[in-house]
Amino acid sequence: QLGRFGDEIGLPVYTVGGFVRDLLMGNPNYDIDIVVEKDGLSLADLAARKLNAKLVKYEKFLTASLFCKDGLRIDVATARTEYYEAPTELPQVEVSTIKKDLYRRDFTINAMAIKLNQKDFGLLIDFFGAKKDLDSKLIRCLHTLSFVEDPTRILRAVRFETRFGFKIEQQTARLMLDAVHQGYLEKVSGQRLRQEFEKILEEKSVFEALKRLSDFEVIKHMFPGVFYTSSMEEKLRALFMFLPWAENFFEKLNRFYAVMYVFLEYHSENLLEEIRQRYGLSHCFVSELKVIKKMIVPLSKMISLHMEFSDIYRVTQSFSSEAFCYVASYLDSQAQQYLKEFLEKVKGTRLKVNGGYLVKNFNLKPGRLVGDILEKLYCAKLDGVITDESEEEYAKKL
Ligand code: ATP
Repeated sequence: QLGRFGDEIGLPVYTVGGFVRDLLMGNPNYDIDIVVEKDGLSLADLAARKLNAKLVKYEKFLTASLFCKDGLRIDVATARTEYYEAPTELPQVEVSTIKKDLYRRDFTINAMAIKLNQKDFGLLIDFFGAKKDLDSKLIRCLHTLSFVEDPTRILRAVRFETRFGFKIEQQTARLMLDAVHQGYLEKVSGQRLRQEFEKILEEKSVFEALKRLSDFEVIKHMFPGVFYTSSMEEKLRALFMFLPWAENFFEKLNRFYAVMYVFLEYHSENLLEEIRQRYGLSHCFVSELKVIKKMIVPLSKMISLHMEFSDIYRVTQSFSSEAFCYVASYLDSQAQQYLKEFLEKVKGTRLKVNGGYLVKNFNLKPGRLVGDILEKLYCAKLDGVITDESEEEYAKKL
């Protein structure tokens, strides 16, 4: 339909990018990217009216998003070329042809288009040998300055390589390594790097992707002071083994923070502060890390030795979900199982009595003592020493 709308107002319309790549690979992709030569906004206006879709326009960027009734989202852009006044800065933009629009993209496999106008409908537009690269499973950049202009593409290359089980083509790999060595990652804002890094953390093969980032020395340059040793690798392996369960269990869990616990545990105060600021990490995270890293070894022993839940509870009461993931990075699968049982037990354990009850029935003053009794009661319940029925009796004894 979009092609027909284009015909009505005389505009060439294409679908581009990841959508075309995934279509040719037979992968599902519900993010439809449309590029229109000359005037994307007019096509978006017309399509919104005809499809009865909600339209959000970004006039400055000559782009728009259509939100259709069936939940489909279609992004419409005007074909544009980008030129960089300085490396790593955001580019200047100019309206142009589909060829130039495709040339500004990251990799050949992401730089194909399919024509949607009725004449030529379905025609694959492949100026850069993308189909061949797709068949040979290669990630190849479009020109030698690609990673200098936008070093976040280094992370994107690794993301696509591991997601599809492709290989970064030799010359592309060399250009990536050169850009890293020349310090281009350091010139990009922490926010943009974090965004791309977080996308990698969402990938299925995240463990392999981080290893590849380390091969390209990206980890070292993004997070000075982090050494991707075999013991770091083991911790990450354990962390990613635990994460899917934890994400299901906790209401809120931020993967980036969970990884930062493992990455930054040995960092000096100054370096930690530098990285905190660069990537917008919270002060809370830093203070929690400082406390927990001191107790991580004995705590992981306690869990591995299956000590009483109450002992573990006393140490971990105030831990964030990410801090528990950090603890899990020190545990083998058996110990992780015990940690899960502990967390389930804590989640499912509630006291019948509360502070008010103790004050009223046992003639106590509100304060520390009441808090201590409640904690002892709770711990006894965690360990199975008391049940709902014996709770009040036990409270009396305390
Ligand atoms: P995903 O499946 O992860 O969403 P995608 O290829 O759709 O992959 P997006 O980040 O949504 O990735 O980007 C859409 C398209 O925009 C890409 O296919 C690529 O052509 C282009 N693109 C995105 N980021 C860049 C970049 N940093 N440099 C050049 N082109 C980019």
